[in-house]
Amino acid sequence: MKKRFIAITFLLLITFGMIACGKNEVSKEENINETNQEQATGSQETTEEQQENPNKCGNTEEQDQAQIEYINIAPEEVRIPILMYHSISDEDPSNNLLVPPAMFEEQMAWLEANNFTAMNLDEALEAMETGKVPKRPVVITFDDGYADNYSSAFPSLKNHNLKATFFIITDGVDNGYYMSSDNLKEMQAAGMSIENHTANHLELNGLSKEDAYDSIKRAQDYLRNVIGSDGNYLCYPVGKYNDETIAIEEELGIKAAVTTQGGIASINDGIHTLKRVRISPMSIDSFASIFSEYIN
Ligand SMILES: [Zn+2]
Repeated sequence: MKKRFIAITFLLLITFGMIACGKNEVSKEENINETNQEQATGSQETTEEQQENPNKCGNTEEQDQAQIEYINIAPEEVRIPILMYHSISDEDPSNNLLVPPAMFEEQMAWLEANNFTAMNLDEALEAMETGKVPKRPVVITFDDGYADNYSSAFPSLKNHNLKATFFIITDGVDNGYYMSSDNLKEMQAAGMSIENHTANHLELNGLSKEDAYDSIKRAQDYLRNVIGSDGNYLCYPVGKYNDETIAIEEELGIKAAVTTQGGIASINDGIHTLKRVRISPMSIDSFASIFSEYIN
């Protein structure tokens, strides 16, 4: 019994030591100017940040968990960037929805090097409701479920210990163009979240209540029955929704939903209409500028 007590005390000491292991204070909130994303700033912040904050605490998953430094603020002050990706591919450089794999890899390496905590939507929602939030929070999302998400994005996410959320058009699963059900199960087993982008990607505000209900519910059933996801989050196709859509979500137990409206997510916008930051091809300095309010 005494031995056990000593062992627990020792573990606690180690845990506190890890939590104390160095991170900078978050600067006071500055509003992100969305045009920052378009313009390279030429800042050297990234390299300096990496030199000042070498990862001294080691690399195992348990240690990474213990390293997360939280702040406690009022729930309405919590701001979490929810990144919105689509395809990760260099097939068509003229298409703004395609981020080249090398650029995506560079962005994920930047997030890891700068100690960002990638959260799933359960964690983000809890942070927005309680006010306990990692100092450098981010949610990484993908819309539509393109096959290249598995082949090109998943390896980078794993390399950099980042979790992400994939919003799937469930009627497209296993048709060859989108990710397969095996891909989705494998990613989920590796810590990724597989969520609802409706069964058929029809714009929900243009459908009858019955059809909108069917499109959301069929996808939710598929995710729960075939993939084993909790199926609690929704991404509106083309960002379109109305009051009826939100009533359906409440009926189906969908906890929160994301839009395509640009901005940093906050509970002030309503948990069924969370904003996201669209990621189009951009320089790493422009990518870094999205997170300027979290970095000194
Ligand atoms: Zn979509």
